[in-house]
Amino acid sequence: MTEYRIEASILIVGDGTSIEDAVVVLDGGVVSYAGPASNAPPTPGAEKVTVPVMMPGMWDAHCHFFGIAQPNLEALATESIMVRSMRVTRDARLALHAGFTSVREVGGLGVYLERAIAEGYVEGPNVYAAGSILSTTGGHGDIHSIPEEWMTGADRIDDLELCDGADEARKAVRRQLRKGAKVIKVCASGGVLSKYDDPQHQQFTHEELVAIVDEAARAERIVAAHCHGKAGIMAAVRAGVKTIEHGTYLDAESASAMSDSGAILVATRFVGAELLSQPPERGLPEFARQKLTETYRRGREAITAALDAGVTIAVGTDILTSDDQWGRNGGELSLLVECGLTPDQAIVAATTVGAMTVGPQAVGSGAIRQGEPGDAIALSADPRAQIEILGDANSVTHVWKGGTLAKSPDQRAGTVTG
Ligand SMILES: [Zn+2]
Repeated sequence: MTEYRIEASILIVGDGTSIEDAVVVLDGGVVSYAGPASNAPPTPGAEKVTVPVMMPGMWDAHCHFFGIAQPNLEALATESIMVRSMRVTRDARLALHAGFTSVREVGGLGVYLERAIAEGYVEGPNVYAAGSILSTTGGHGDIHSIPEEWMTGADRIDDLELCDGADEARKAVRRQLRKGAKVIKVCASGGVLSKYDDPQHQQFTHEELVAIVDEAARAERIVAAHCHGKAGIMAAVRAGVKTIEHGTYLDAESASAMSDSGAILVATRFVGAELLSQPPERGLPEFARQKLTETYRRGREAITAALDAGVTIAVGTDILTSDDQWGRNGGELSLLVECGLTPDQAIVAATTVGAMTVGPQAVGSGAIRQGEPGDAIALSADPRAQIEILGDANSVTHVWKGGTLAKSPDQRAGTVTG
């Protein structure tokens, strides 16, 4: 494996600190030195790279490798899983080349994609996947417009799993562990892309959520809960859920409950901004457009409440379609800054907080420090002055994943095509 000595005018560590005139040495897949150039060890055999800015590879803590062309979950039933599987290989590559060396895939084909990436067949980030999204019958992870048999029969959709009652919920968690899930995803409230439910309504009972969290915890997995309404947020936090996805109707009381329990908010502004700006022919159902208009508007207040209560915030896009949103995942950071985070807070949300969203399963802390995995990126400018550059893959000049160079300026022309 090539040893790299990267000289950076600025090293953003990922914990809110930075070092000027820094050197990072990547050797044997890990960071063997990160600090001031003046203290750097000699590296006679290393390949030298000089860059303006270096920072940790980013984390998208909420995305889906569904491989569907339109933002309509009926496509999970009507499009071939083989076609979907091939589409997500490109999504993975675009995420990596946009500077995302890790993703937490909260439901979809990620458990399978992770294997193909680990085996070297597909180029992509480290994938921490949930397997199927767990939902109540009729809940957000059910597709209300198709025969129930398609959700529960032998040929059921693999991306979603219905379970009702604590025993079924436990078994559903065990089925995800059997597939290699690193995190468990549940729908604790109604949602936007589900036709007949209300984002404000709680889904899963306290007993069901407790069973899911308990089963996951014994396997050292954390639980991520999709929640818009306050009742779902409160129930999830009370049951010991570690990350609240969307958190749309967060208020002072629920934000303080999150803060007390150490739960992390993954606000997912990106998907809302994207889907609402698309013309109707891109396929967002009208009922979903109406719900999304309201949740996207309210979501801004949720971030204010979270910041006021000191809730930890992670970067997650909720990209769910195979289109040009992949490769622009870093656009979430600009949207968080618009909602009141400082650029430094947004960068921490995309790095060390990202690693926290997979709990004990994380390999590394998400920072660039000695002994950490060699997941790092170089940028053409300082994102603390221009946060929007993190949403443009062309600003990401180099990507190292596990100490291996996955993208360099010579390869840039090929990164956004296809
Ligand atoms: Zn999602």
